[in-house]
Amino acid sequence: MIVDLRSDTVTVPTLAMKEAMFNAIVGDDVFGDDETVNKLEALGAAIFGKEAAVYCPSGTMTNQIAIKINSNPPGEIICDELSHVYKYEGGGIGFNSGLASKLLKGTNGRLTARQIEVAINPDDVHFPETQLVSLENTCNKGGGTIYKLEEIKKIRTLCTNKGLKLHLDGARIFNAIVEKNYTALDIGSQFDTLSVCLSKGLGAPVGSLLLGTTEAIKKARRIRKIFGGGMRQSGYLAAAGIYALENNIQRLKEDHQRAKQLGATLQSVSFVKEVLPVYTNIVVFEIIDTIDYQSIIKKLAEKNVKVVAFGPQQIRMVTHLNFTDDMLTETISILKNLAIN
Ligand SMILES: *Cc1c(COP(=O)(O)O)cnc(C)c1O
Repeated sequence: MIVDLRSDTVTVPTLAMKEAMFNAIVGDDVFGDDETVNKLEALGAAIFGKEAAVYCPSGTMTNQIAIKINSNPPGEIICDELSHVYKYEGGGIGFNSGLASKLLKGTNGRLTARQIEVAINPDDVHFPETQLVSLENTCNKGGGTIYKLEEIKKIRTLCTNKGLKLHLDGARIFNAIVEKNYTALDIGSQFDTLSVCLSKGLGAPVGSLLLGTTEAIKKARRIRKIFGGGMRQSGYLAAAGIYALENNIQRLKEDHQRAKQLGATLQSVSFVKEVLPVYTNIVVFEIIDTIDYQSIIKKLAEKNVKVVAFGPQQIRMVTHLNFTDDMLTETISILKNLAIN
């Protein structure tokens, strides 16, 4: 048995998802002719109560398009220092949008309205003009942490008052929604643009949606084309996205349950120094100083459990729809019995 906990992107389509893909009615999406892509975009927009959506190959592309359409260089974006838009998108903020980044130190990836307020630059020629704020929910690098709706609302009010755009990197927004007492509509109403990944916990092979007003998404389509993301018969992929939105949201709770069990096991083994609180499907833990964490990754790989390095002495595990109860039992047993020398 091979247990792959490197990411929730490692899932492969189920038979039912593949059937939906096989039966998709397609056309040339650059001409707007692909019915299945159009259906996916309408469905995504409706779920979050936004006017429009555009289907893109990746979450990096939806984030980068959003930053581009919500800004006008020279200017500045405010985000947490752990945010994917800054840390894992190849320097795209500077490269694609010509913006400076003001990085704030939040609580495991989450910012407060107060923190953002004091980080907004005064109207002074020395400073880049603050133009937008980007939040990440759940926050990957923070260990799958979730924002409270009250804080998001405060940030929304601040951005409205200061004339700033507010973007959500919602790569794993449904992981937050199934755990919290808020809905997709609650979230959708707070942001100018939202990026939602279909290829993470939802289990589709490819794709992300960018959501916003009709006007914003019209601009986004132009940028998507420039970025090389205009696809043709992409309905075969969009069909998987529709299937994912219709079938794979509620089951995310199971991933969270399994992640909590992994977290509890890790708390009890001698080679682990600290486990970050497990909120959703991400488990981040630190190995004790006297053991090289790379040796733990290697030992686990020898037992067919794949995990990734996540920082100094840190390892990440992510649960997903191809991680079964049998795999959980096996992984717990391997962790408990890992020989450390
Ligand atoms: C995965 C991810 C993205 C987008 O990644 P792609 O691999 O480009 O689809 C964006 N933000 C976060 C927080 C992510 O985890």
